[in-house]
Amino acid sequence: MVIKNICCLGAGYVGGPTCSVIALKCPNIKVTVCDKSAERISQWNSDKLPIYEPGLDEVVRKCRGVNLFFSTDIAKSIQEADLIFISVNTPTKTFGNGKGRAADLKYIEGAARMIADLATNNKIVVEKSTVPVKAAEIIMKILRANTKPGVEYQILSNPEFLAEGSAIVDLLEAERVLIGGEDTTEGQKAVQELCWIYEHWIPAKNILTTNTWSSELSKLAANAFLAQRISSINSLSAVCEATGADVSEVARAVGRDSRIGPKFLEASIGDTRESPAIYVSKTLLDEGAKLHIYDPKVEIDQIFYELTHPCVTSEPEVVKANVTIHHTAYSAVSGVHAIVLCTEWDEFKELDFKKIYEVMMKPAYIFDGRKILDHEALQNIGFHVQTIGRRLSRTCSIRAQGSQTTL
Ligand code: ADP
Repeated sequence: MVIKNICCLGAGYVGGPTCSVIALKCPNIKVTVCDKSAERISQWNSDKLPIYEPGLDEVVRKCRGVNLFFSTDIAKSIQEADLIFISVNTPTKTFGNGKGRAADLKYIEGAARMIADLATNNKIVVEKSTVPVKAAEIIMKILRANTKPGVEYQILSNPEFLAEGSAIVDLLEAERVLIGGEDTTEGQKAVQELCWIYEHWIPAKNILTTNTWSSELSKLAANAFLAQRISSINSLSAVCEATGADVSEVARAVGRDSRIGPKFLEASIGDTRESPAIYVSKTLLDEGAKLHIYDPKVEIDQIFYELTHPCVTSEPEVVKANVTIHHTAYSAVSGVHAIVLCTEWDEFKELDFKKIYEVMMKPAYIFDGRKILDHEALQNIGFHVQTIGRRLSRTCSIRAQGSQTTL
């Protein structure tokens, strides 16, 4: 089979950028990204895409309406497709066994059931979401228990390694693409079909093929190794603050060891999909702070949605009563005791901090959770500055009282 038509279930952070890049690099393949959410699809079809990634707008603008489509017509897209990516959400369970830890696979199962109901010819089904090992078995069981005459399935694992903020570069210049399939003639044929798609732009030596379970486990193992590095440098940053060492200098020195390497040794308040700003906000709210929040890229509804999510708070009314969302950084900082900087938007580096200092309560505290500001200049203005992994000469601990601002 030559793949001519791809469907992707789930127009989220993984499905959207991945399929946009496939469409860009495979002009002869029609790629349709589907979602149950009509709102999400209309955002993908608008000028303001639902996610922000450098370079994404350009790729979408080039391919949308040519060989890249965003649609809510899931049935039609599944029926037309030779290959279907499942890139639906796998949230953490908020109930029952494994609550707060285990992945909730209900959307994966839902997607597999949709395919089983709607498929009328052979399909290669590719699990792209990050899932526990053996999730492909659940997909296999659902599909193969509902097989119709003339419809056969091959199930592959093809985990995504893109990082937030560099998704398009990560996809265009992937260090490795991992494809796992069954050790049967048909399974290996399906693996080769997916390899062929990536070979449109990824050198064959960077495409690794394994069995299904190795592929699933490798994704989790890579995440675990990266998390270990971040945990190590964040623990070291606390030691730096206590001893007067500077975590950036320590990271530079340690990272020169080729066995360790320099990447992923940046201390900061978080390096995750679920923004650390949410947890910083939650901690401040728990301490009774009033928050004024500004984010140039996140919609107001999304901010309230994240802050009132059951994993974050059991008291949504506290959030509504104590959080005000602003449209500019300047209005957010007016009259506050402290600024907490949680995201590294360039816009924040260019703010007029003299003007900001003027309108804040005094003493004016600023916590640079991303280490992107000029701390000396801020101290010269009069700010009490605190950052991560480095003790500054004139710092003071921020106590959550009165109003705070999270940027
Ligand atoms: P990820 O980070 O894994 O891409 P997101 O939460 O950003 O996850 O996006 C997953 C998307 O999958 C959501 O927009 C959700 O509406 C969509 N989705 C969930 N189940 C289905 C389904 N069966 N068919 C189509 N889309 C689905």
